[in-house]
Amino acid sequence: MMLAFMPGGDHLALVHGVAMLALVTLTYGFMIRAPASVLSRGIAIGLTFGSGAVLAMVDPLKIDPGIILDGRGVILVLVGAFGGPLAAGVASACALVYRIWLGGAGMPVGVLTIMAAAATGVIFANFVPRIQGGYDMKRLSALAAVGSVHSIFLALVPLFVTGSSILATIPLHMIMNFLGILVLGHFLSSEENRRHAIRLLQREAETDPLTGLLNRRVLDRSTEVLFDHCRRAGRPVSLLMIDVDRFKVINDRWGHSVGDRMLRQVADTVRANSRSNDIIARYGGEEIVMLMPDASGNFAVEIAERIRSAIDTDVFHLSRDIANVTVSIGVATACENHDFGKLFVEADSAVYRAKAFGRNQVIPFSGLLPAAA
Ligand code: GH3
Ligand code: MG
Ligand code: MG
Repeated sequence: MMLAFMPGGDHLALVHGVAMLALVTLTYGFMIRAPASVLSRGIAIGLTFGSGAVLAMVDPLKIDPGIILDGRGVILVLVGAFGGPLAAGVASACALVYRIWLGGAGMPVGVLTIMAAAATGVIFANFVPRIQGGYDMKRLSALAAVGSVHSIFLALVPLFVTGSSILATIPLHMIMNFLGILVLGHFLSSEENRRHAIRLLQREAETDPLTGLLNRRVLDRSTEVLFDHCRRAGRPVSLLMIDVDRFKVINDRWGHSVGDRMLRQVADTVRANSRSNDIIARYGGEEIVMLMPDASGNFAVEIAERIRSAIDTDVFHLSRDIANVTVSIGVATACENHDFGKLFVEADSAVYRAKAFGRNQVIPFSGLLPAAA
């Protein structure tokens, strides 16, 4: 909370202040969960906290004639710590514009404290990382401690307002700031922790635990959207079906844990040869599917060959042996009237042909029936 020299305020101001803090927390919780770019999220959070800081100044708590408390300091410290530099910049700009517009003898100090509060939050977040989304109580207490220091600037008020009794109230401002940051910071941290937990669960639900690739459910879900997009844009989509050769024999010979290691290595090699918009998923036990938007058949075959040869040349040093694994890759490319099911069947039949022709090779679907079918 912060002192200011402005008229207005009534005994309900504290209730308004609490309601406003709750509103900021709720809006913040909504914003961090909504899908948005870093830029638009930063601006939205900045505007929310900035409006909160302005509302705090509009509706202050009157302590003595001419001496009021408001929550802008708390809000500005927290926007820096939770929203980052962009949000802090936007929020402090809102608060500054309003404070300068209000004018008055206390304005220069008001401007200084607004900038100091926002900077404190940003600097704190830079040095003290958040844990699992939010701050724990120990870190929040540290933020509250450094975040209440800017009240010291109020000692400059007598330079602008003669006979001000503000010096005696500075410790009270610090305590109010400390408690405000602690309480609102705790709510914001809870929101961040919730978001973090949801994100972890989402990631877990979408990821194959062994390889870290996406699972079949996500692949099935994303294909229709991707196909629609490519069909409308008139762009080709290619699909690689990658199947590990004689994996059962590998398991039988070296054991399941070596098999798992190899599967992880195969997944890493596929990932290393992918582009950022390719979708890679573990489709079955030892089958990996890579869906490539905007990829012609020739390009897809080239990538598939790169993956095959990298896996072929990789060796695994076991305790008393050297092992190696190969893959067979079927490639299919979609033209206008394809759907994912058809593309999948074509890639699958190309894999069968690769197996029938001796494995460790890349076969593009040619439209002919697979030799091994
Ligand atoms: P092919 O060259 O014809 O593909 O022969 P294959 O042995 O790879 O084919 P098959 O489909 O008969 O066997 C697949 C094997 O993959 C059987 C299964 O034990 C193994 N497998 C499936 N998932 C895993 C896994 O997560 N870890 C390990 N280690 N093995 C797995
Ligand atoms: Mg298989
Ligand atoms: Mg296999």
